[in-house]
Amino acid sequence: MVVLEAPAVKVYESPKAKCVKCGAPARIRLSYANAWFCDKHFKEYVKERVKNNIIKYNMVKRGEMLLVAVSGGKDSVTLMNVLDEIAPELGVNIVAVHIVLGMGEFSEKSLEAFRDSCSKAKNVKCVTVDLKELLGMYMPEIIRRSRRPACSVCGLVKRYILNAMAVSLGASSIATGHHMNDLMTYAIKNFMEQKLDNITKLGPVSESEGSAVKRVRPLYDIYEDETRAFVKVYGLNYVDIECPFKSTSTLEVIIKDMLSRAESESPSLTISAARALARNLPSYPRPASPPNRCRLCGMPSNGDVCGFCRLTMSLTGAPLGPEVRSRIEGMMSSLRTS
Ligand code: AMP
Ligand code: ZN
Ligand code: ZN
Repeated sequence: MVVLEAPAVKVYESPKAKCVKCGAPARIRLSYANAWFCDKHFKEYVKERVKNNIIKYNMVKRGEMLLVAVSGGKDSVTLMNVLDEIAPELGVNIVAVHIVLGMGEFSEKSLEAFRDSCSKAKNVKCVTVDLKELLGMYMPEIIRRSRRPACSVCGLVKRYILNAMAVSLGASSIATGHHMNDLMTYAIKNFMEQKLDNITKLGPVSESEGSAVKRVRPLYDIYEDETRAFVKVYGLNYVDIECPFKSTSTLEVIIKDMLSRAESESPSLTISAARALARNLPSYPRPASPPNRCRLCGMPSNGDVCGFCRLTMSLTGAPLGPEVRSRIEGMMSSLRTS
């Protein structure tokens, strides 16, 4: 990671200017907006933008339920905190879920951060899903036994659990904490590889391909520096160690670095690009394959049997999709009725 002299958002120890909203002493500098904010108005500013994204991109409507996936990292902790504050204005029900992956200290700290956010939340219900309780093993064992790349197996399992939960709860969308810097990095990488249909999956909303649930990214145009500043200014507990299995491709590192440098030379470049991309996405190609339903568990699938059922069959000798779905159904019943 590069540390830049001119990040998009910088928090100073003491006030250096006046807040653009109220004139009070301000210590938060937003280069891309050419503005200073006091602690109170920085939060208002981020909340307002997230709320606008939710409304503008039709992420979830009044009376509906949103499932938010919280890893315990700075981004999803920021998202959960913001959603907790704006839920009453939006009139939506929010359930936050953390999946315990069993990756040693990383997972212990992640769970701690999630619990801390839950203890402060007023409008968000929390649920924790322990992978070992659900599948009989934690992620390191799944990765080892599957002999597949860690991120692809982990992503498949997390996606399946989140989808099954959303279906059980009757949630209309699943929100993740992806922020603009990562989304734009992936978009540029996919552009260089000319995988344009993948870019469609990096917008503010991707429609469910066959599943009942769409993916939404309320932090679509929020800088990573903003989530960093958010957890710092409001003293939110988050996990600051990296996933031990994380492998970032060299190209990704280079693109992210290039974007940060371009932003520091030309403030607001990234946010303008992200918003332009969101406007143009409807004309991008969409992933082709018409989805089926898994013949074993009924969840969306490209083939006859879904990736999760195939994976668990190779790990345990039996496809666990149907059992996982019914266990999740049981876990969700209390959340549906309360
Ligand atoms: P990452 O790929 O680790 O950057 O995570 C991207 C997003 O996926 C996070 O912002 C969360 O919304 C979600 N996520 C990742 N890991 C977990 C987890 N263990 N439990 C719940 N949500 C997660
Ligand atoms: Zn102010
Ligand atoms: Zn299946």
